[in-house]
Amino acid sequence: VRRPIPPPTTMRTSKLLLMFVIYHLISTVGLLMINLPSEDFDGEISLDALDIEKASLDFGGMAKSAKPVAVLHPGSADDIVELVKTAYSSGHGFTVSARGHGHSTNGQAQTPYSNGVVIEMSGSKGSQLRKRKLALPFLPMEGNSSYVDVWGGELWINVLNWALHFGLAPKSWTDYLYLSVGGTLSNAGISGQAFNYGPQISNVYELDVVTGKGELLTCSEEKNSELFHGVLGGLGQFGIITRARLALEKAPQRVRWIRVLYNNFLTFTKDQEHLISLHGRPPSKRFDYIEGFVIVDEGLINNWRSSFFSPSNPVKISSLNTTGGVLYCLEITKNFDDRTANSVDQEVEALLKKLDFIPSTVFTTDLPYVDFLDRVHKAELKLRSKDLWDVPHPWLNLFVPKSRIADFDKGVFKGILGHNKTSGPILIYPMNKNKWDNQTSVVTPDEDVFYLVALLRSALDSGEEMQTLQYLNNQNQQILRFCHEAGIKVKQYLPSYNSQKEWKGHYGDKWELFLKRKMEFDPKHILATGQHIFRPSSSSSTQSW
Ligand code: FAD
Repeated sequence: VRRPIPPPTTMRTSKLLLMFVIYHLISTVGLLMINLPSEDFDGEISLDALDIEKASLDFGGMAKSAKPVAVLHPGSADDIVELVKTAYSSGHGFTVSARGHGHSTNGQAQTPYSNGVVIEMSGSKGSQLRKRKLALPFLPMEGNSSYVDVWGGELWINVLNWALHFGLAPKSWTDYLYLSVGGTLSNAGISGQAFNYGPQISNVYELDVVTGKGELLTCSEEKNSELFHGVLGGLGQFGIITRARLALEKAPQRVRWIRVLYNNFLTFTKDQEHLISLHGRPPSKRFDYIEGFVIVDEGLINNWRSSFFSPSNPVKISSLNTTGGVLYCLEITKNFDDRTANSVDQEVEALLKKLDFIPSTVFTTDLPYVDFLDRVHKAELKLRSKDLWDVPHPWLNLFVPKSRIADFDKGVFKGILGHNKTSGPILIYPMNKNKWDNQTSVVTPDEDVFYLVALLRSALDSGEEMQTLQYLNNQNQQILRFCHEAGIKVKQYLPSYNSQKEWKGHYGDKWELFLKRKMEFDPKHILATGQHIFRPSSSSSTQSW
């Protein structure tokens, strides 16, 4: 009797499962890296202790999760399909977490289960292959928009450098470019351009996604739109982004970068809100980037984001007549090129004239566009040289509704944080809600304008209690408690919760939709378990969420 030959995909899948089990068993005897046997498999499954260690760490340096049993360095989307299909169809199952560049702060890209596999979407291994995934940008005919198709694990810095070869650049950014496309699109991706262009998730035309069932689907506004909207800001819950089609614009050449100071919070926020209300105006009549930060102690003047203040231009907080010792810095830019270089001074002057900052505090510099976008990397290199980069980062990012931002200032900047050494920047800038698509998975406050408040602090072993991890974590909890008790309806950005009850509270009205999408696209709860939203169906019921 001839046994039926299984169809190719089944054969490949069972082969992978078998290999997976074998790898698991032999991991103790020192086998480190093997190419998977399937003919189409370009990637590598690694059991290397260093790879596994790396996959169980992140930028936050705080979350301790189980180590993955293996790490996949995919060579193509098909490798991811094969792995996820295996996890989905196997009896016992295992979890799969895509890891972008590991820049989460609470273990979101890790797998908290000892039977998990982490997919390294970015990184050096296989990067040659991934480089090929950077397609030629689409250069439009009149009236169309340019775009580029990129691999989901591509770093934004590579996307920028590639697009610049063609005189193009993505429109909406994060402050730091060594983040992966899939990682930021799973959150939102925000920076000072968001007031005008919206977050990065508002600037994507199309995605390829491997769902939790192992299907590779193309999705967009028109096609598989439920998946498209779900994945954008979806914290990796509905699928793994393997390709993103990103909107491009003509790349600016240079940037006029300006900082001005305020000692009055109301004036500061009034000016920020005025500037973001100019969105959609012709570029000559608005700034291109609007952010800001809070200076609660003099030490921060020398902080990495503040290195902008040149030593020949020292700023003494004490000389600036602050209320409660707090200063606010508005940070704005204007892009220009050879054609507009002559008019940029006048345009900037006309815009600054409408603002109410402390007159003696205008700090200006000109630099190439790419240097402006890559500014935080320079700070990273400085911090690395002082061993201050790989330290715990108890970051807290909040979206605060405009109507309560003054209460937040009083209670947090001048109250809870007042006069503390802050050991990290505190960003604050407003955004226009109408630039965010409500069909995506992100949640934002229910007001037309809301602020990002980002407490980007590092825990240091300086001997000062106020800089310890425990102190900063307690302070974050105190801030959240204060908002809750004062009825300030903040939403966490890059959220982190440990119970489903808290997640339901986070999603509010959107929870039912979120759940429905999860049932449809990842019914066994295989994906992105490091977010602690859904317990995988293969896990023991004693798990805490
Ligand atoms: P990871 O941390 O590796 O992953 C984040 C989540 O996305 C995980 O749940 C993971 O499973 C999932 N994921 C990763 N890749 C994929 C994929 N291809 N498909 C589906 N899911 C995936 N954010 C901003 O918005 N604006 C900023 O200005 C900004 N600045 C930052 C500066 C620094 C120095 C750092 C460390 C972070 C900053 N971030 C900023 C936060 C950043 O957006 C998040 O850390 C985000 O998680 C991206 O990091 P990553 O690519 O390393 O993703």
